[in-house]
Amino acid sequence: MKKILFVPHPILRQKALDLKSIEKEDILIAEEMKEVMLNASGLGLAANQIGYLKKIITINIEDKKNNFETNYILFNPKILSYSKDKIKMEEGCLSIPQQYADIERSSEIEVEYINYKKKLIKRKVKGIEARVLQHEIDHLSGKLFIDYLSSLKRNILIKKVKKLVKNKEI
Ligand SMILES: [Zn+2]
Repeated sequence: MKKILFVPHPILRQKALDLKSIEKEDILIAEEMKEVMLNASGLGLAANQIGYLKKIITINIEDKKNNFETNYILFNPKILSYSKDKIKMEEGCLSIPQQYADIERSSEIEVEYINYKKKLIKRKVKGIEARVLQHEIDHLSGKLFIDYLSSLKRNILIKKVKKLVKNKEI
């Protein structure tokens, strides 16, 4: 199984490319991503997190409290609009293991993507799903949740991850 890349790996800072068409190879990458995401108990994964610079995201949300569950693949996802209403929520990231911070994001977004049946989907998303999609779509442009923090705080979190790696704790 592919390993998840951790900060400060440079691929996490690169922009993923649009898919001109969805090929079998891209479906296989998405399947591979799903496996890695589920194995790491992640809510979502962007292709650059396992080293592919392609606009592919996988999502797996189980919100038992709100009786909400969803699991799907997005090709070429793009956010069309953001609600003015914002909400703070604690975020983590599989590429920044064991580090968390409160991040403010729009409570609702309109998103467009191509699904695994190669159909163009456009819909409004809110709650935890809107949160996860904003986080993952940021990844595709090389952006991480720690970029919303002060550089001081960001560097502390990166140092903590480096230390975990050095001590072989992750
Ligand atoms: Zn992430």
